[in-house]
Amino acid sequence: TSASSACDAAAPLYPPGARVGVLLPLPLGGLYDYRVPRSGPAVAEGQPVEVPLGKRREIGVVWGAGEGAVAEAKVRDILRVLPATPLPQVTRRFVDWVAAYTLSPPGAVLKMAISVPQALEEPRPLTVYGLPDPDHPPDLAALGVKETRARRAVLNVAADLPPLPAGDLAREAGVSDGVVKGLAQAGVLVPSLVHPQLDPPRPDPDHPGPTLSAGQEEIAEDLRSRVRGHAFSVALLEGVTGSGKTEVYFEAVAEALRRGRQVLVLVPEISLTSQWLSRFRRRFGVPPLEWHSELTQARRRDVWRAVANGRAAVVVGARSALFLPFRDLGLVVVDEEHEQAFKQEDGVSYHARDMAVVRGQLGSVPVVLASATPSLETVLNAESGRYDKLHLPERHGGSLLPDVDVVDMRRMPPEKGDWGRSWLAPPVVDAVSETLERGEQVLLFLNRRGYAPLTLCRTCGFRIQCPNCTAWLVEHRLVRRLVCHHCGHSEPTPRQCPQCGDEDSLAACGPGVERLAEEVVGRWPEARSVVVASDTLGGPLAAAALMERIAAHEVDLLIGTQVLAKGLHFPELTLVAVVDSDLGLSGGDLRAAERTYQLLTQVAGRAGRAAKQGRVMLQTYQPEHPVIQAMVTGETAQFLEAEAEGRRATSMPPYGRLAALIVSGEDEGAVDAACAQLSRAAPREANVEVLGPAPAPLAMLRGRHRRRFLLKAPRGVRVQPVVAAWLGRVKVPHSVRVQVDVDPYSF
Ligand code: ADP
Ligand code: ZN
Repeated sequence: TSASSACDAAAPLYPPGARVGVLLPLPLGGLYDYRVPRSGPAVAEGQPVEVPLGKRREIGVVWGAGEGAVAEAKVRDILRVLPATPLPQVTRRFVDWVAAYTLSPPGAVLKMAISVPQALEEPRPLTVYGLPDPDHPPDLAALGVKETRARRAVLNVAADLPPLPAGDLAREAGVSDGVVKGLAQAGVLVPSLVHPQLDPPRPDPDHPGPTLSAGQEEIAEDLRSRVRGHAFSVALLEGVTGSGKTEVYFEAVAEALRRGRQVLVLVPEISLTSQWLSRFRRRFGVPPLEWHSELTQARRRDVWRAVANGRAAVVVGARSALFLPFRDLGLVVVDEEHEQAFKQEDGVSYHARDMAVVRGQLGSVPVVLASATPSLETVLNAESGRYDKLHLPERHGGSLLPDVDVVDMRRMPPEKGDWGRSWLAPPVVDAVSETLERGEQVLLFLNRRGYAPLTLCRTCGFRIQCPNCTAWLVEHRLVRRLVCHHCGHSEPTPRQCPQCGDEDSLAACGPGVERLAEEVVGRWPEARSVVVASDTLGGPLAAAALMERIAAHEVDLLIGTQVLAKGLHFPELTLVAVVDSDLGLSGGDLRAAERTYQLLTQVAGRAGRAAKQGRVMLQTYQPEHPVIQAMVTGETAQFLEAEAEGRRATSMPPYGRLAALIVSGEDEGAVDAACAQLSRAAPREANVEVLGPAPAPLAMLRGRHRRRFLLKAPRGVRVQPVVAAWLGRVKVPHSVRVQVDVDPYSF
């Protein structure tokens, strides 16, 4: 198809006076009609423009011909055509596609694609100062300027460096701005205007990389040929952790670079990709551009522009990077494709992995999905032949997969009660001691932030709950507060029970990583230990520094949550003990087993990544659970088959389709009334089933009461028109919000 062409030479032009539909990056309805000014030039589809909206001015994008629904006299003129180039056609089609699929207003999707409206403005030109002829020192006397030390310093800097803004030049020379301005007035320095733009260094595809094994090379060549073909395809790149998936897909990246095409790599947790970034730098000589929520506005603007004008060759980013306006995308990689973090639930709910495939299809771009534990969806797509499966069977360099032992907690010595107990079983304690004695690293994995997940009064039984959510408050002892992990509410840890007022009766129940750390310090006081959790990491720089310290073996014992489970490579880490392997298995979530299996496999993959044999110990109260059994026997296929069978039997995803409606509001009565309306108007089609309303998994969140409907249909049914018609039949008050989630992820 032609959708991928770099510039939209064929984009329709709208002549002066024409009516056009402009899409505004706002969560409103559809397009708004405006007129191309009669006095100006024609405007292309995709052109960013400024338009009046009520009394305001808004920036939007010309999306197509006007619809004519508004009376001719009421159509207002476009105020200004912005200097930015038109949004590529493929980006516009992608915005429309995502909006239609997720049943979101197109404007809300466009907002993700534009990201920073300032990016559409001409960068403000900078005045810089330099010598008229850098090769010949100016003749001060001839210009009637007395030579001083300060002036000499400025001229020396100006001779060495390219033209700089006055302030920068003065700073470099160690003088005041006035010196530079004076020289400019006298004509010694000449001003010029420049348009600053990000010019990222180009990654070098032929920078020396590792020599691939024969098996790796075969798959690398397959990927390269996909890039050369420049056609849509999806490859599932599957292989145990450490098998070289990253090195192999780097070869596909290199091929795209050789062809001058852009590359997008989506990763789940950007702040922890410091190791990924340094590996990229090792392979390509320079870093890629990053895209994530922690970038400053100015940086976002610059990166967005660099993507739009084609200077950005490789972008690694979180899910929203998918909406960047790539001019000439040649490859999309979704690393750790099974990760839940790719699913966005607020606002426009979309799954970045699925939308990456759509983006690939619209732009004729090959897509690579990499994982050691692919999602069931992807596995089935590979089995049905829609995706091609590429398999890396073994760890690079022959390092063995770790041995997995189950520690049956039911057989461990009886607890002494919840307070003052040990969270580690005797065999784990012994294994940790032995590993430390050998001078190797240990990871104690517990996927729970804070000190204790529940605070309970031993006198009256009161449990401290979040005032805004159906959730217990989690004690964070380091900051002496109780925190809600859903809404962020926090309060000082009380000294007495809020219900009965008893002093010293409040008890922490269950362990979080902080509490586990207490036990660790007590047992192994000489070991250098560190807690690694999302709330203790600090920013990306601090995280990167910590990962480096760990890799350099400046830490003996890691106590970590899932932030440590992914993609990290610590050669000295040989023992991984999972404190509560059953944690993710409780609750009625459809994907609980699949997700627990993926997480345990990822964590286990941290052990013994280099020459030394690794060991994994799983503390569990359910040793017979299929997930735990799959971990021990390594019979992945069998486990996945059983999971698939269960989903098939109940027509659940990926065999059936789901859409969720979350109805929420602060007034419970209004929410219930809206639910009653929705129930009465529910679709009656024979092939769809409506479940609910039921309390949503978090029945109360951020002070809003939440109910949920689930719409279930066979896979072949398009649920969007059914849901849209349903919503069209009801009118809920403004105080109630109905959020649509097509393909809800957790429930
Ligand atoms: P995965 O992405 O499958 O977990 P990686 O690509 O991270 O695997 O590889 C694991 C480790 O082995 C990394 O340190 C990587 O640099 C190294 N490695 C993989 N393949 C090779 C190779 N052919 N030559 C040298 N080192 C390799
Ligand atoms: Zn809360």
